[in-house]
Amino acid sequence: MDKITIEGLRCFGRHGVLPEENKLGQNFIISCKLYYSFEKAAKTDDIDNAVNYADAAKFITEYVKDNVFKLIETLAFHLAYELLKRYDISRADIRIEKPSAPIGLPFETVAAEISRKWNRAYIGLGSNIGDRKAYMDTAVKELASDDNIRVMQVADFIETEPYGYKEQNKFLNSAAKIETLYSPYELLHRLQDIEQKAHRERKIHWGPRTLDMDILMYEDIIINDENLVVPHRDMANREFVLRPLCQIDPYAVNAVTGKSVKQMYDELKSNEKQNK
Ligand code: ADP
Ligand code: MG
Repeated sequence: MDKITIEGLRCFGRHGVLPEENKLGQNFIISCKLYYSFEKAAKTDDIDNAVNYADAAKFITEYVKDNVFKLIETLAFHLAYELLKRYDISRADIRIEKPSAPIGLPFETVAAEISRKWNRAYIGLGSNIGDRKAYMDTAVKELASDDNIRVMQVADFIETEPYGYKEQNKFLNSAAKIETLYSPYELLHRLQDIEQKAHRERKIHWGPRTLDMDILMYEDIIINDENLVVPHRDMANREFVLRPLCQIDPYAVNAVTGKSVKQMYDELKSNEKQNK
């Protein structure tokens, strides 16, 4: 994978557990790998389509100087996420060396290394009360305005019959392909916050069900516990999930069954036909 590497950047900082370290400061040696496809940069030979490594080095130097953490782990963690948000990169590997760490024994260096990336996920969206389109639009806007989320694509909103409990209004449904820096649980909580916000407004006007946001898939991660099941447990049986997904990424694969979205959709359709 293409990457820009900065090695051995000497930075001054006050990170450390000991109060003297916070007062006097010391040198930290930072190395990083910033991953992005060179395709566009190379074809145009234009710095505007590249990661500006001089700018990145300056940013790192200032970040190390202007913040104070006890642990180099914390510094590495924050630096990775800051770089991922600031530059158009898919992954950041960071190594923080602290060659003058207060160890009291002869040693060359001590280092913390971290690797973080933007993670691909698919979100299901649904609404069946009130101004359904407005709730769906708000949901997409909320996702897009979060700097830990990049909305890559949103499927057309489609009207669908209620699933399970039939005595309710028709739904609007959609799905979004996103990239996120959130872990699956952080993402779940963020979606619940957005639902909550919609619910609050809904309480005043409409009553209790306006917006449902589910994690359908997250990379090829498999989670199966009380609060979170990924890939979504019932996605293979839900036309209103598979049809929007089919529009944006028919060959995305369910990590549990190994089946693509299109395969699940075709199977669901042919089962429906047989049951008629
Ligand atoms: P539903 O989406 O089935 O209509 P809710 O939106 O009320 O139901 O969610 C009920 C619970 O489902 C949530 O509290 C959440 O913890 C859990 N849950 C499990 N897996 C997921 C997932 N992949 N995405 C969203 N919520 C999930
Ligand atoms: Mg839900």
